Amino acid sequence: MTAKVVAIASGGLDSTTMLYRAVRGDTGVEVVQVLSFNYGQRHQKELDFALQTCESLHLPFSVIDLWRSGVTDLLSQSGSSLVSDTEVPEGHYSEESMKATVVPNRNMMMLSIAGAVAVAQGAEGVLIGVHSGDHAIYPDCRQKFIILAGLTLSAGNEGFGKLAGQAVFAPFLFDTKADIAFEAFKYEVPLNETWSCYIGGEYHCGRCGTCVERLEAIDEAQQRWRTELDKEPPMDLTVYEDADFWRKAVNV
Ligand SMILES: [Zn+2]
Repeated sequence: MTAKVVAIASGGLDSTTMLYRAVRGDTGVEVVQVLSFNYGQRHQKELDFALQTCESLHLPFSVIDLWRSGVTDLLSQSGSSLVSDTEVPEGHYSEESMKATVVPNRNMMMLSIAGAVAVAQGAEGVLIGVHSGDHAIYPDCRQKFIILAGLTLSAGNEGFGKLAGQAVFAPFLFDTKADIAFEAFKYEVPLNETWSCYIGGEYHCGRCGTCVERLEAIDEAQQRWRTELDKEPPMDLTVYEDADFWRKAVNV
């Protein structure tokens, strides 16, 4: 059985890989709509990459503008560096400082709207690319939240999620970022057509938390590719302003 789903995509490595895997793999879901959210991020770059991916995969794409709703003005009071002027921290993702990137209730806002669109379009669920590397910092990426959000969407919408047995599909929930990078190689995701950097310059900075996390994950996936498949892994053609900083950051 294939479940029709509305996917939440950010233009980053995780959700882009999720889309490629859904389209090219045998995963039991059919993406009928992709939504990206403008919640007042520091830059819109990731939304351009999400659009590019959807064009490549021939998926319908829409941007939901939370920013203009005024919600993110109010959210900036949270001090989150993603929606305020607080400086984006450099260094390893697991550091305490990365907590400054939490946007209050972000996934519930996105799942709620994606769920509404899914119900309206007669789809059976919502697809989201949360992964285990996010569990420590972001409570709304953990299994408990994903299960309860699915139950809430089902409870609030008659029959929603019933056909597939779940309303929220989170295929990477127990995967690491390196697992996802490995999947990206498998489904030939053009990594340079994904955007992870929090800074939003011309190129990936290579120094912020998400750049460090991305480079570490891709490196691990490449090593596994060599070991498990006994061949050279796909190259990461992404341009990084500082391509070596991450090695120091992960060793501290
Ligand atoms: Zn960066």
